[in-house]
Amino acid sequence: MTLAPLPVPTRLTHGEGIDNYASRHAQRNGTTVEQIEKALREAGILPPSRSRRHPERIQAWKQLGKLDGRAFDQRSTLHGHPILERALCLRCAAGTQRVGRTLTVGWVCIAHRRWIGHNQLDIRALPELLAAERHFRSTLVSRGAHVGTPVMVTARECARAGITLSTLEERTTRAGTYDPEMLTYPETIKIARLITQTSFKNWFHDPAHPPEQQRDRMAREIASSIIPTGENRRLRSAERIEKALRKLSRLGINWMT
Ligand SMILES: [Zn+2]
Repeated sequence: MTLAPLPVPTRLTHGEGIDNYASRHAQRNGTTVEQIEKALREAGILPPSRSRRHPERIQAWKQLGKLDGRAFDQRSTLHGHPILERALCLRCAAGTQRVGRTLTVGWVCIAHRRWIGHNQLDIRALPELLAAERHFRSTLVSRGAHVGTPVMVTARECARAGITLSTLEERTTRAGTYDPEMLTYPETIKIARLITQTSFKNWFHDPAHPPEQQRDRMAREIASSIIPTGENRRLRSAERIEKALRKLSRLGINWMT
């Protein structure tokens, strides 16, 4: 049976989850999700199950919202890694709080030039973040990375450890705020791209290389990729990165998975 859409249309924000959408859509139509679903159960359209991920429930809300068949991507894991449910870009969501899972988006909304991490901020003064986001989408997504995967966590920690203070200070001045995760995003993406290269991964999978040697090489290569000049600065950066890598392995975070 095909349900008629509710009279007041509600646009789905890219990546928005079913619960978030259903409550907005019901509210715009002067009702609640509970009332609608109760009526649908009574009419035999929805099964008695109250599972929020029930396929018939998903189908019903797609019809009630007149949405595309691909709406509400239900995957909560990819390649064994959980897909983060997170706040969507406030500008995309017309100023309202919406949450969802967006696999193909990093931490930047390119359309609105916004950082969409823990704090949402205008990043027009930091064009390198937009460039990094484009690299995330063009390279890392096809390599299976998304914002919560160990590769991204590793890259973020190495970027924070390895970046020079002067770069961080200069970006802080331009941004007008200090948010280390945001300010090191270009390095995070650079590192994630480096460590997901096939040749790089193959070397690390080779059992002939003991963990100490692996960490040492990884730290040096990462430092070279993010510190363009100055041998001493690179060396100091590599030392800090190596420490960060040790900490990650103690925490059981393995970027190669
Ligand atoms: Zn946006």
